[in-house]
Amino acid sequence: MISKINHIGIAVTSLDAHIPFYRDVLGLEMTGEEVVPEQKVKVAMFRVGEVQIELLEPTSEDSPIAGYLAKKGEGIHHIAYATDDVAAEIDGLKRNDIRMIDDQPRNGAHGTRIAFLHPASSGRVLTEICESGSGSHE
Ligand code: ZN
Repeated sequence: MISKINHIGIAVTSLDAHIPFYRDVLGLEMTGEEVVPEQKVKVAMFRVGEVQIELLEPTSEDSPIAGYLAKKGEGIHHIAYATDDVAAEIDGLKRNDIRMIDDQPRNGAHGTRIAFLHPASSGRVLTEICESGSGSHE
């Protein structure tokens, strides 16, 4: 079941260039910074209430985020909804003829299990579903 928005992903060319805005200007709590090899990104997370802002910097030229930046530039990349069971959510979406980028859950930042819907099935808004891992800050 989808319960809330977990995070909003924002594509940036450089974490270092943008962290000061979120941490120092907006005054958000920075909850972590880590490399996610599976997605070829380095992420920085900031808490704002129950929602996190996830800055995404590509770690290689074949990163999906590098492709996004080349095509569209920096900006909002995806919205991630929290679910208690990402595998069951995928099954339910597929039963509703939703096209998935990820047919199987994969590893996200901070021990989460995630899957992306294909934007063609979600009004061109890249949509992620996200199940918090035991090691998360949830
Ligand atoms: Zn995300």
